[in-house]
Amino acid sequence: KKCLSLIKKTRYLNAYITVSEEVALKQAEESEKRYKEGRSLGDLDGIPVAVKDNFSTSGIETSCASNMLKGYIPPYNATVVQKLLDQGALLMGKTNLDEFAMGSGSTDGVFGPVRNPWSYSRQYRERRQRDAQEDSHWLIAGGSSGGSAAAVAAFTCFAALGSDTGGSTRNPAAHCGLVGFKPSYGLVSRHGLIPLVNSMDVPGIFSRCVDDTATVLGVLAGHDPKDSTTVQDPIKPSMIPSVMDVSRLCIGIPKEYLVPELSNEIRSLWSQAADLFESGGAKVIEVSLPHTCYSIVCYHVLCTSEVASNMARFDGLQYGHRSGIDVSTEAMYAATRQEGFNDVVRGRILSGNFFLLKENYENYFIKAQKVRRLIVRDFLNVFDSGVDVLLTPTTLREAMPYLEFIKEDNRTRSAQDDIFTQAVNMAGLPAVSVPVALSNQGLPIGLQLIGRAFCDQQLLAVAKWLE
Ligand code: GLN
Repeated sequence: KKCLSLIKKTRYLNAYITVSEEVALKQAEESEKRYKEGRSLGDLDGIPVAVKDNFSTSGIETSCASNMLKGYIPPYNATVVQKLLDQGALLMGKTNLDEFAMGSGSTDGVFGPVRNPWSYSRQYRERRQRDAQEDSHWLIAGGSSGGSAAAVAAFTCFAALGSDTGGSTRNPAAHCGLVGFKPSYGLVSRHGLIPLVNSMDVPGIFSRCVDDTATVLGVLAGHDPKDSTTVQDPIKPSMIPSVMDVSRLCIGIPKEYLVPELSNEIRSLWSQAADLFESGGAKVIEVSLPHTCYSIVCYHVLCTSEVASNMARFDGLQYGHRSGIDVSTEAMYAATRQEGFNDVVRGRILSGNFFLLKENYENYFIKAQKVRRLIVRDFLNVFDSGVDVLLTPTTLREAMPYLEFIKEDNRTRSAQDDIFTQAVNMAGLPAVSVPVALSNQGLPIGLQLIGRAFCDQQLLAVAKWLE
């Protein structure tokens, strides 16, 4: 009830698209009954959680923040949603995002932008007053899972699901002062997650501490017959050691990640964290990921190509929106898609179809697949040389004021912003953003740790040490 009342009090954050109050209260009642009757409890019994609005939820609208799916009520739960509910979690609602998870600010959805709760923190406000800045200058939450991040940061729930295709969980986690975890590709089921880029999408986890993340991951991880890319995996990621000895670890610092756009403050925190590992006895070495400079371009060719193919299903016939223009089937398709998708989505469909044209396929799509392989090899080489975990920044800078964020060309900028996160998705590796400090402005800053594939448990143990 307290969480529900906080949701109401923080409506201005625009974190939720749908609040499932009745569902949550009923689940809470059942949970209380289980407890009172001394029945066995689930790992998340009675814990309020929120879910990004691109995961299917049975009987609850799932919109992807798009006109195309507004009003769409799925007949089934995504596997990860079902797993949360099976362990007794209370579903507080569906959270806001960039349309179809395309973006890195949570400013591009049809329900309007998400506000970062830190915009209203005492420290940030005082700082702005001192600098005689306007009061209405609120900050973006990061994206595309900004609604989930804001929901956890505003204490309206204890954990939330995001999705992460190129950084969409880690980026908003860094901007909102949370732990944001992207599991290894194949560890957690994508069944019921409306796809952006099938070969890179993973469900992500937001929480306020690494232990909570490990608990939720323990609930979500595992093979799903409905997602053939999930692996039969024996690891129990919920069991991370309470005391971590980092002295036997080798931490790699990728030299290509020291880019000129990186803020001085983040740069210095990054090097302080490296020193911290060193003083804990870890070996800290500089490593090279030589194909980093191609990663953003490569991501965009592959992303838009998969988007073009994925979005073909939204034709006005099966789900969601259908245009009233019906002089011919073709005209109906075109009008439906014009009315249903924003310009970011339409832009990506156009680019993707261009890359997939018969005359361009070899030169763009196939070439990008080959570059992806080189990017994957960069990581493998580093891990094969004995590095256990990579330490990098998560974002180039702290959360930007909304008015500044929307000034520049959105697509070009959001491409740059994912420089530290996208390659990880192309390689399918686990990565986590850990909040490490507040900036001079009083805003949270996160650093990223990247692990070997399926060493999610070890990665979280290291994250807990850094936390
Ligand atoms: N910002 C990236 C994009 O727009 C990543 C999005 C994501 O991870 N969902 O594609």
